Amino acid sequence: MRYGGHTSCVALAHNDEVAPSLILDSGTGIRRASALCGTAAFAGTIMLTHLHWDHVQGLPFFSAADRDDSRVNLMLPEQPDGTAAAEVLAGVMAPPYFPIRPCELRGKWVFSTVSPGTIEVEGFRVEVRDLPHKAGRTFGLRVSEAGAVLTYMPDHCPSLLGPGPEGWGEYHRDALWLAEGASALVHDAQMAANEDVTAGRLGHSVTEYAVGLGRRARAGLVVLFHHQPDRSDESLDALAERFATEPGVVVATESLVLAL
Ligand SMILES: [Zn+2]
Ligand SMILES: [Zn+2]
Repeated sequence: MRYGGHTSCVALAHNDEVAPSLILDSGTGIRRASALCGTAAFAGTIMLTHLHWDHVQGLPFFSAADRDDSRVNLMLPEQPDGTAAAEVLAGVMAPPYFPIRPCELRGKWVFSTVSPGTIEVEGFRVEVRDLPHKAGRTFGLRVSEAGAVLTYMPDHCPSLLGPGPEGWGEYHRDALWLAEGASALVHDAQMAANEDVTAGRLGHSVTEYAVGLGRRARAGLVVLFHHQPDRSDESLDALAERFATEPGVVVATESLVLAL
C-alpha cells in the first residue's frame, strides 16, 4: 500500500526539465510516467534491460506514448539469433496473448537493438554491459550526464558466477565497473540472504549483495529495488531498518524522486 506494487520502470529527466526523456524498462510502473509528461506526448527513448514480463508489460499502457503525436525510440538487447527488435517484442505482445502488436502502438515508434558498449541517447551517455541473470540476455546500464551517474541493475544474479567473498555472489568486473562511483546505484534486492534458496531459480540478488556492491564501488546511494512480490509494507520497513546504520541505503518506493 505504501511502497507500491508496480513493476520495474525508472524515468530520467534532465535538470531543467520535468518530462522524462529516457525511460529504463517498461514494467507496469510506466503507467505513472504519463503524469510526468503533463498534457504532452512522450518524446524520447525507452531502453529495456531485458524482455521478462515484469519489464515490458506496462508498455501498451503508457498513454503518453500511445498517441498520434508521440515519438518513441525503443531499444532492447540484441538477441543471439539476430531477431529484429519489433519481432522480439511481439513475442510478449501479440495475439492471442495480447490484443495488439508493437507496430500497432500509435505515434512514431522506432524499434532497434543495442549491444554492450557506449551510446548517446537523449543527451545522456549510456554504458551498456551484459549481466548474469536467468534465461534471456540482460543488461546493466550506467547513465551519466554532467557528472551525475545513475547505475541501473534491476535484475542481476551474481551467484551464477560463483559464491563471492560472503556467499551472496561474485563482485564481478562488469558489476563493479557499472557501479563505480555512481551517484545512485539502483540494484536488484529481491531476496534477503536467508531466503536465497529461490534466488537462483528466478535469477535475482540478495539485499546484502546490493549493499556490498555499492560499498565496494563507492556508490553515493544504494537504492534497494525490485522487491520480492510478497513483501508487505511492514517487511519493507524492516528491511529499511536493517540497513539504517549503513550510509546511503534506501528502499525503493513507487514515485520516489532522486535529484542527482
Ligand atoms: Zn528478469
Ligand atoms: Zn525483473
